[in-house]
This record gives sequence, C-alpha cells and structure tokens, in this order.
Amino acid sequence: MSFKDIMGHERPINLLQRAITQEKVVHSYLFIGSEGIGKSRVALQFAKALNCLEGENRVDACDRCSSCKKIDHHLHPDVSLIEPQGQTLKVDQVREMQKALAYRPYEGRRRVFILTAADRMAPNMSNTLLKTLEEPPLHTVIILLANHPRWILPTILSRCQSIRFNPLPSHLFSDWLTREKGLEKSEAHLLASLSEGSPGKALEIKEEIAGIPRKQLLKGWMGAKSLSIEEKEGWIESLPSHPSQRENLHLILEMSKTLLRDLIVVKILKETSRLIHSDLVEEMEEMAGKWDLSSLLKRMEILHQTSQAIKGNANTRLSLEAMMLSWA
Ligand SMILES: [Zn+2]
Repeated sequence: MSFKDIMGHERPINLLQRAITQEKVVHSYLFIGSEGIGKSRVALQFAKALNCLEGENRVDACDRCSSCKKIDHHLHPDVSLIEPQGQTLKVDQVREMQKALAYRPYEGRRRVFILTAADRMAPNMSNTLLKTLEEPPLHTVIILLANHPRWILPTILSRCQSIRFNPLPSHLFSDWLTREKGLEKSEAHLLASLSEGSPGKALEIKEEIAGIPRKQLLKGWMGAKSLSIEEKEGWIESLPSHPSQRENLHLILEMSKTLLRDLIVVKILKETSRLIHSDLVEEMEEMAGKWDLSSLLKRMEILHQTSQAIKGNANTRLSLEAMMLSWA
C-alpha cells in the first residue's frame, strides 16, 4: 500500500507530499480525526515515503524496496508505532522513545515515531513528551494521533503542525465497503451512515448492528403517537440504559436516526429507492401516512439531542426519560 491506495483524505496527503517535495517536513505533527478514520495508515505511508530506498524526496512510497516492506511488517528499526498499554500511553513508553532518539537512524533517512491515542496520555507523560517536542533531534519525525484535540495540552498543540482528517464522504465509503469488504449494498450503506465516515469504526460495529432489532425499534419509536406512562417506562426498560451500556445505547439511537431519516424521505419524496433500510419499505410507507412532517422533524431533533447528550456522558436513564417526555 502507498498514499495512492488510501481512500479519501486527499487534503492531509497533499499537505504531507508538498512538505516532502518542498523539503519542509517538520519534526512534530498532530493528526486529528475520529477513531478508525485512517490516521495511522496515512502516518505509516508518510514514514514509508520518507524512508523509501527508491530515492529521496519521493512523494509516495515505491512499496517494493526493503525499507517499504519492513515498515509494512513493522520490522523497520527506525519506524515505531507506539500504542497505549492498557487505557493510556505511559511515561515509560516516551522514555524509551527518548532513548532511541539519542542515536542517528540505523538505516533509514528519518526516524519516525507514531504515537497513537495521544489524547490518552498518563498525566505525567505530557511533560516528558514536551521536552522532546521542544528540542527534537535532527532526522526525527514524531506524529501524534488524536481523536479529540481538547484533551491535549496547549503547550503540546503549539509545538505540532496540526492536520485534520475529515470523515469520508458516505457514497465513497459505502462503495469501498461493497468493493473491498464484500458487503451487500444495503449493509454497506447502513454502516457508512452509522460509522461517521470511519472505516475502522464501521468494521468494529458491523456485528453489533446485526444484533439490533430494527423493525422493533421502528415500531417502538414511531408505532404510536402517544404512549401511556407504563408504555413509556416499558420502552425505556427495553433499551440498554445502564451507564456501562452507553456505547451500545448511543449506537441504537444513531440507528434510530437512520430509521427516522428514512421515514422522512418517504414522507417528503414519496419514493423508496434511496432508503437506507430498504427492507422495511412496507412499514415505512404505512407509518409515513400516519405522521405529519413537522412531528417527524421534531422527533428527529429530540433524538439527535439525546444521542449527543449520551455521547457526551450525560446520565443515560435521565436522558431517555427526558426524551420520552418531550416525545409526547
Ligand atoms: Zn520503497
């Protein structure tokens, strides 16, 4: 694999390639973008291009030379991918990196360290890392990967060139899932909608999604215009509302948004060829007749707010109860 094989991310790749051709590669980069979006893949291809034996200042790796192959197999002595041990990156991992930095590269042109999960550093680690970023040794490139820049100290942020990775466009992504991962069109479309443009996340949630009873969910959300208190409680009970199930609940709410989105498409466009849940056409058509557009849009808004609140650590049970109240 090389840059040209990476789906999307044209802007970050162009920036890095321009840095190579203009000989303006800096010592520290910060790649920001959601989990699984492809940051480490781009970082590794960058390391390959920087060290490729087919020549200096290549904008892309040859993918054939021994350097490229070693990096692909994580066997290159000058290119390291540092991943968290347990929940966070530990200070010892940075100390080891610093020891290695004292020497020139063994065989490559540049030593490249890729620190994944830089937004999950043990508290004492940031300061240790800062020292390295302040006085980076020659021939070194440190690439920090982070999902959220807000967990990174401003002192670290200011010493890195930040490069943002945007979610992949949905159509491009769902084509890729069908082509490369052999998924059915409808499944690919659903996964692309739910994974926020992140291939890693899509593959991670594939199994979980298969277990969500979509038809039941649609009927639960939209089956009745008004529910009695008992029915509301029963409906909340049926959802995974324990704090430990936050991720699962968030996924169910996101799935519910795609169901409601389809219902709105049927209501407005009166056509079913663009549905994400094309297997639920009959149910959608029947329900679309019962609802007016403004109620559907209102519910979408409430669902979205609840999903965001739960993603942002709000109390799961209370959020669901509040949602059911505004639902009425
Ligand atoms: Zn090469």
